[in-house]
Amino acid sequence: MRPIAKGAAPRTYAKYGDAQPDLVNAIDRFCSYCERHIAAAIHVEHKRPKKSHPLLELEWSNFLLACPNCNPTKGNFKVRLRRYLWPDDDNTLLAFTYHAGGVVRANRVLPKKLRSKANRTLQMYGLHKRPGGHVEPSDRDYRWEDRRQEWDKAVLFRQQLQNHDTPSQRALVEAAATRGMFSVWWTVFDGDVDMRRRLREAFVGTDPTSFDAWEQAVARPGGQL
Ligand SMILES: [Zn+2]
Repeated sequence: MRPIAKGAAPRTYAKYGDAQPDLVNAIDRFCSYCERHIAAAIHVEHKRPKKSHPLLELEWSNFLLACPNCNPTKGNFKVRLRRYLWPDDDNTLLAFTYHAGGVVRANRVLPKKLRSKANRTLQMYGLHKRPGGHVEPSDRDYRWEDRRQEWDKAVLFRQQLQNHDTPSQRALVEAAATRGMFSVWWTVFDGDVDMRRRLREAFVGTDPTSFDAWEQAVARPGGQL
């Protein structure tokens, strides 16, 4: 899950929906959780649901962007932030691992407490659902399928790049940054510092403090990881 830095509140809001353009400006039109590029109808998501936390309905710090699959999955319960991991607070690249076949998992090397938080986060948004997994996705949930396709595309692009059979690194990165799934691209380009840096810079709003000079994910200042 891409670690994002949305910055300070640009202004105050009379309706939460008014924050959508400012959020898009800060972190682009990607779902903060499944990371897909959403061309239309990207929702302003409340980390702590507005029904159970009405005082936070218009709070910038409580906003992220989410797709029509991730946003409604959560429901309206009381959310204690520290029971979960958050892309705008933590380095969520360290929380999850991405694999061929559209699989996303809590990172197995995490200490037990953090792994529980990572699993809870996946379950809260339904990101763990996939055919053949513990929970099957609904007919209208293409998140795993989109992840699977993006993985295959990133692997193909990496092979083309190695064979010099491709327009340019810049064209690849630009293509990736219009399609989303930063974490998949970042994972597939393991060991390629230059491409990882290009990807990080091309995805607007990626948190720079979550990476070291070799473009490895590192604990985020102030985060749980
Ligand atoms: Zn989503």
